[in-house]
Amino acid sequence: MRTRINILNVPIDVVTMKEALTVIEGFIADKSSPRLVATANAEMVMMAQSDKELADILRQADLVVPDGAGIVWAARYQGYEMPERVAGFDLAQAILARAATTGYRIFLLGGAPGIAARAKAVAESRYPGVNIVGTYHGFFQAADEAALIADIRARRPDVIFVALGVPKQEKWVWQHREELSVPVAIGVGGTFDVMAGTVRRAPVWMQRAGLEWLYRLISQPQRAVRMLALPRFVYRVLTAKKVRQR
Ligand code: UDP
Repeated sequence: MRTRINILNVPIDVVTMKEALTVIEGFIADKSSPRLVATANAEMVMMAQSDKELADILRQADLVVPDGAGIVWAARYQGYEMPERVAGFDLAQAILARAATTGYRIFLLGGAPGIAARAKAVAESRYPGVNIVGTYHGFFQAADEAALIADIRARRPDVIFVALGVPKQEKWVWQHREELSVPVAIGVGGTFDVMAGTVRRAPVWMQRAGLEWLYRLISQPQRAVRMLALPRFVYRVLTAKKVRQR
């Protein structure tokens, strides 16, 4: 039984990277219903404070991993043991690596035109044998949606990585989960951009020091306004009551 904690009314599963992968593999094997995996960071939790639709989706998500130093800090501040950060990018890589040996069928949806296809090529060279059954960019029109969903279904992926940004990716998956009928959908934000090489991740020492947010702020200053969510998140956690969810 997984422990699920509550950070500002958003559920977060207490899982390590290894455990998250095991849970996801269980979803793939089970196939009984489409599962949503979310990767929560402080920005997402703050967004959920004012976006009720996103908050409702996260409460019903099947797995919410602690992506972000802020989430790990908040969990520990509330007195929970949170073993490690499970970054969305790293989780996606772990799934791809596993898929190379198990044959899981993977679909990549999202990013600017050409990015998902480049991410596919990178994955194929990094994880030989990985079966990426399709890609599509993330700037499709509503009119193209039915054909896109039919195409995804026809390719029968086990896992779909959806990179449309938060909260669009979670809302899109939630709205279309039954039609898509993919065992696992996971929102992966800028993962394809990093894989394709158009965006760089923070150096490992900064990731380990919990400073990836600082690297993002410096390397993508256009994110500064949305990153104001981080100090607001810290303030809210420091002043919130400590409530156990289950
Ligand atoms: N994106 C997309 N369709 C959209 C809006 C965004 O495919 O309508 C892509 C965008 O190209 C980028 C990703 O979604 O690859 C969002 O990346 P970001 O790092 O901003 O993710 P977040 O921080 O929101 O998880």
